[in-house]
Amino acid sequence: MAPLVTEHRDGPRDECGVFGIYAPGHDVARVAYFALFALQHRGQESAGIASAPRGRDIMTIRDQGLVAQVFDEHKLRTLVGDLAIGHVRYSTTGSSDWENTQPIVRNDRRTLALAHNGNLINAVELHSELREDDVAFSSTSDSEIIAALLATHPASRVEDAVAEVLPRLRGAFSTVVMTEDTVVAFRDPYGLRPLVLGMLEDAETGQAAYCVASESCAFDLIGAKYLREVLPGEIVTLTEGGVKTRMVGGAERRAFCVFEYIYFARPDSKMAGTVLQVARARMGEILWREAPVSADLVIPVPDSGNPAARGLARAAGLPQDDGFIKNRYVARTFIQPGQELRRHGLRLKFNPLPEVVAGKRLIVVDDSIVRGNTTRQIVQMLRDAGAAEIHLRISAPPIKHPCHYGIDMSSREEMIAHGRTVSEIAEELGADSLHYLSLSGVYEAVGVSREEHCDACFSGDYPLAGTEDHRGKYALELPLLRA
Ligand code: SF4
Repeated sequence: MAPLVTEHRDGPRDECGVFGIYAPGHDVARVAYFALFALQHRGQESAGIASAPRGRDIMTIRDQGLVAQVFDEHKLRTLVGDLAIGHVRYSTTGSSDWENTQPIVRNDRRTLALAHNGNLINAVELHSELREDDVAFSSTSDSEIIAALLATHPASRVEDAVAEVLPRLRGAFSTVVMTEDTVVAFRDPYGLRPLVLGMLEDAETGQAAYCVASESCAFDLIGAKYLREVLPGEIVTLTEGGVKTRMVGGAERRAFCVFEYIYFARPDSKMAGTVLQVARARMGEILWREAPVSADLVIPVPDSGNPAARGLARAAGLPQDDGFIKNRYVARTFIQPGQELRRHGLRLKFNPLPEVVAGKRLIVVDDSIVRGNTTRQIVQMLRDAGAAEIHLRISAPPIKHPCHYGIDMSSREEMIAHGRTVSEIAEELGADSLHYLSLSGVYEAVGVSREEHCDACFSGDYPLAGTEDHRGKYALELPLLRA
């Protein structure tokens, strides 16, 4: 398949979304399809579902593209079964090839399918150890390392294999794995990436079935009830007998990704007891408190800036309007514009409204800036549309450090905040003023404490020792390791 075209956004890229369900009597593949549909924002490069009737072979369909492009009615009908797992992917280790799509299937001592969200920081070491034991790999993603460790493990039950393997993994992993009769979900001891547990009730029999997902918005769409988060270091097993759980080891501290609250997770997902739409509006209120400015109108960069813009406008007592119209149908697989059209590239996604912005002193709200290319073009478009002043307000602190826990960001050198003061960045972007939300403002907005979170991309404080040595997204594609 041809390589996919990168979307017009230079912000941090979402990572992956996972789903798992054990529900005899339900059309599990269809349920997984709709859950993945709700999790589509977490990865648009590939999608896949594995399913199995209890005790029978695992079937898998996976391909590059969006959930709706990969699956059709016929494919879903072939995925019969009582248990299923699913995955949507944005590549954070390994490139965007078919071989790196998930769920990954391994046939070693046991047959299993696996879907993973996160990044291992000791992937190269584990890969070498497995290669020394003559374990072969068919992909360059770190997820296959987890799959290989579990599939080659001698424990008779897969949940016991998970308990033995989990302490060897270092990094971020919210993972679902299935054999022909069991679904197991587990999360790294720091709880870096999200994972939640839900329950589906059969309307006729009242019988409960259980499922896990990256975010609670997946449960809303399939009619499941949110029960709780899967705890850091917890192994949750879904079988005929219901849910079994056990804790394996513990980290010195929790380190949930603070960026999930700001941007990655869907605004209707609930995290830390808060619906994120509400937390993001509070970020806007605090932005105003931290940096008020004389202005006529608040406009968001759609859609990511919407909730914070609403909160800021409310706190400021200023009107809010749409300064841009966003084309909602720009997918990752569009036809490349030619040279002439490329100069107008960004307008594929945003078109400014001169009737709204001309002559106005604008507060423009967005959730984050990484390289700054998109923001620079947005500022220029607003100037061309006649804006009198442009005051940028960003509902996250400056991003200065790469993420090694499952989010694909630019290298440090490409980040606009690297080595620049805020006023230098404002000048670079062509804005009249710029303010980033403080880190304490983020925590205040969500109502959580810093001690239990990772904010390394803002602060440089990586919660796992050794993270600085991580070799990056293509670590397993070094020729030596690929042999
Ligand atoms: S480095 Fe940033 S994006 Fe990565 S896990 Fe930590 S807070 Fe999240």
